[in-house]
Amino acid sequence: MTWVASVLTLFPGMFPGPLGASLAGRALAEGRWRLEAVDLRDFATDRHRSVDDTPFGGGPGMVLRADVADAALASVADGRPMLALTPRGRPLTQARAAQLAAGPGVVLLCGRYEGIDQRVIEARGLEEISIGDYVLSGGELAAMVLLDAAVRLLPGVMGAAESAREESFAAGLLEYPHYTRPADWAGRAVPAVLLSGNHAAIAAWREAEARAVTAARRPDLLAASPVASRVPAP
Ligand code: SAH
Repeated sequence: MTWVASVLTLFPGMFPGPLGASLAGRALAEGRWRLEAVDLRDFATDRHRSVDDTPFGGGPGMVLRADVADAALASVADGRPMLALTPRGRPLTQARAAQLAAGPGVVLLCGRYEGIDQRVIEARGLEEISIGDYVLSGGELAAMVLLDAAVRLLPGVMGAAESAREESFAAGLLEYPHYTRPADWAGRAVPAVLLSGNHAAIAAWREAEARAVTAARRPDLLAASPVASRVPAP
């Protein structure tokens, strides 16, 4: 069954955008996944076709109306997980992207301006997801980030199944560094072990490098990693 993404947005013209290129774009063209951008404005009911309104309690900006968002969600609801992109959400992780890729697809609700009426998030049980501790001007780029992370994990999308297993976060570690030809460049040689042909030594070096970079940059990941908490090979 094809993995289907429905994105509910005020700016459907932004899609597929970057998702039409490279890995995700090729997979889209090959029918490995399907992308549907749904215009929230089509679900406005008043004669001004308004989709948002000023916040109760005052303050700046406009809030996406619950009734409009709910009607749009109802139009695509078919049991797929439904998520809202918001900086108040749980941070997106590789593990969550992999779970979503293993399912039937996703429904993504994108906010704009001040955000989304909380009642539709609660009524629909939307999972709130953030892509990081900064504020974007809309949920569309966040939706694209989530979709890119999930789609590359769909069967047949990435060239080598290997690369998904070894890359950053897969085992709770950041990845080891990569090198390619030329072996000597601008007075810098690649680490000799990589030219040794000794696969066990290469694997050990890569694991040590992965641990070292994770310890230096992301000790929080190291503390939570099942691999990293193993006693390192001598
Ligand atoms: N007033 C809100 C920010 C609204 S930004 C607040 O302070 O929390 C407008 C829209 O952009 C949001 O509704 C959301 O859909 C999207 N957005 C902004 N930053 C995001 C992030 N870090 N992750 C996911 N979505 C984000």
